[in-house]
Amino acid sequence: MKQTHVARVRPTLHGYPRQGPRRELKKATESYWAGHLDAGQLLETAAALRAAAREELREAGITEVATGDFSLYDHVLDTAWAVGAVPERHRAAAGTELDVYFAMARGTAQVPPLEMTKWFDTNYHYLVPELGPDAVFAPDSRKQVTEFREAREAGFTARPVLLGPVSFLLLAKPAPGAGADFEPLTLLDRLLPVYASLLADLRAAGADWVQLDEPVLVQDRPRSVLGATARAYRELGAATDRPKLLVASYFDRLGDALPVLAQSPVEGLAMDFTGPAAANLDALAALGGLPGKRLIAGVVDGRNVWAADLERALSTLATLLGLVERLDVAPSCSLLHVPLDVAAERDLDPQVARWLSFARQKTAEVATLARALSEGREAVAPQLAANRAALTARAGSALTRDAAVRERCAAVTAADARRPQPYAERTAAQRARLGLPPLPTTTIGSFPQTAELRRARAELRAGKLTADGYRERIAAEIREVIAFQEKAGLDVLVHGEPERNDMVQHFAERLNGYLATRHGWVQSYGTRYVRPPILAGDVSRPAPMTVEWTGYAQSLTRRPVKGMLTGPVTMLSWSFVRDDQPLAETARQVALALRDEVADLEAAGTAVIQVDEPALRELLPLRAPARPGYLEWATEAFRLATSGVRADTQIHTHMCYAEFGEILPGIEALDADVISLEAARSRMAVADELATAGYPREAGPGVYDIHSPRVPSVEEVAALLRHALRAVPAERLWVNPDCGLKTRSPEEAGPALENLVTAARQVRSTL
Ligand code: GLN
Ligand code: ZN
Repeated sequence: MKQTHVARVRPTLHGYPRQGPRRELKKATESYWAGHLDAGQLLETAAALRAAAREELREAGITEVATGDFSLYDHVLDTAWAVGAVPERHRAAAGTELDVYFAMARGTAQVPPLEMTKWFDTNYHYLVPELGPDAVFAPDSRKQVTEFREAREAGFTARPVLLGPVSFLLLAKPAPGAGADFEPLTLLDRLLPVYASLLADLRAAGADWVQLDEPVLVQDRPRSVLGATARAYRELGAATDRPKLLVASYFDRLGDALPVLAQSPVEGLAMDFTGPAAANLDALAALGGLPGKRLIAGVVDGRNVWAADLERALSTLATLLGLVERLDVAPSCSLLHVPLDVAAERDLDPQVARWLSFARQKTAEVATLARALSEGREAVAPQLAANRAALTARAGSALTRDAAVRERCAAVTAADARRPQPYAERTAAQRARLGLPPLPTTTIGSFPQTAELRRARAELRAGKLTADGYRERIAAEIREVIAFQEKAGLDVLVHGEPERNDMVQHFAERLNGYLATRHGWVQSYGTRYVRPPILAGDVSRPAPMTVEWTGYAQSLTRRPVKGMLTGPVTMLSWSFVRDDQPLAETARQVALALRDEVADLEAAGTAVIQVDEPALRELLPLRAPARPGYLEWATEAFRLATSGVRADTQIHTHMCYAEFGEILPGIEALDADVISLEAARSRMAVADELATAGYPREAGPGVYDIHSPRVPSVEEVAALLRHALRAVPAERLWVNPDCGLKTRSPEEAGPALENLVTAARQVRSTL
């Protein structure tokens, strides 16, 4: 690459993992909740973790840090707090401020928490602010100011980061009682003075720059949102006592929002140039750059785990240098979405570990990039050479390229992804084989994961239980689950998934191509952390994965036992995915491995096989033009996994969320014989949606809300069923809960299922 002029480019970040190297924050927070730690101790731990993180950054050569990104629970909740959007029920529920804050996050015995939902297309969940027409905002800048001062006193240039006003309002929902069609964005004029006041406080504390994150601008939103954005930044920009403003976006391209921000009086933008957001580069060039503005360029993928291609990043940065007044370099988004440190993974093959980059490594990458531009490439020659070597090794490794897998994928034809018989023929064959009553009853797969089961798993890991001893516990659990279902009178049984810790991890551990981490924790929400597996190489199935336990369960009963698999899209969505080939390709490999499993289950006599795809909607691209292409490969992968079966083998699928709109066409394209859906909470809105869309196959809208400890009565379930019958005709209606029973106790799930069966019988008798 030719060297352009040497410029002053600094590395910075939008946010860092909050939990600490050993999840200290989780432990401290949970101890506080349990009453073992007082508020002072919790806040001290938090401050110590922030200080330790800053020292890591200092060592890596970062001098400008984001502040305010730290959170005891969630940054959207912190923003709600900072603007005074605290619901009355939470204010009334607790004594201290900290407890009001946690009441919003988790509820109390008396009041429910704020709702929680996914943060864009990541696996992080944020708390949804509740706003009504009578919302009164009031600024509280204490957290922001404290964290800003702390970093500055430690010698850093600190850049406070908060969620911007437009995103805050668009991510909020109408408060209870506000009416479902209330639009929080209408509160913008009332909210802006509160933001102006927060900004003024930060300026008074000494902040030169403040970053306002506006990730909603990468989504397709009505044009009115662009108008609101222009208005918001015109007004915030007009203040005289303000810091310089930097508006940040990430996860996709800015599209039409780019010229709006470029023309606004803000002094800087932070933009993502990775993945689908790479299109930002051409858009910026076409616009003639951002004359007079600062740009923080996200050229290192902040939400995946791969070592960056530093040469490619340098060439992007070289182009950008000519387009802006001042350029700095950062990961594409907060590093909240990746684990902390590859070096902690002692079990990983060191050859493979070199391909990976977690938060600490990404920090080093942006530091290297900044040095290359500021001091010249020679200053970082060893880092660039090591990076090139790692990328070359990865591209040529037998793990990433398995010839047999590639050959098989290339040979896939359209016919492989299509069931040979039309649905009408299949359903007749399945009816004849299964002999089920109308309104057949079933469950979604998992039964309560009891304390004994979790203990057995822990004992197995600790070597206190032998593999045989563990297997006997699993077998005993399956016997119990089967006996219960027979007694309760369910029609299609399940084995209960007692051997599965997690529906993705369980399969990831049994497939070639996946890597597992030991310490790769990532915040899912609050104090819940997950360790997503890493899809690193070509996927294949060395041996059957579920046939044995499913077969064992079937040997105990004459009723059909449903086989239970996790679908290809969900296997991708809840993992870190490869960035060296299209997702569609990886999905196809996973689909072929599952296809073999489906075939083995069928050969072993399994007549009903469920392939769960709860994540089908999650991977939906943020920008609409990319959606049809996504649905095409995603549904093809599902069909590839499930189309190799006979007509009389019944394929089920399951999804659990209440809004379908966008993916209804996708659901039909799965060509599953039966679909079960979450519906109890929305009082069957889903069933109505399916009916309106003319969904032509069998469906089981959930009639038992498994998220609640409450046991629904027979009457309640029957009423939901009668409602469902208005949308789905009796010959196509199934009776099942909303989702798996894993998180319920046996005392809750048992009576609930008994009531479900009784209600089904009652309604059946009236048909
Ligand atoms: N079969 C899984 C279970 O019952 C499905 C879980 C899910 O949809 N998230 O646990
Ligand atoms: Zn579910």
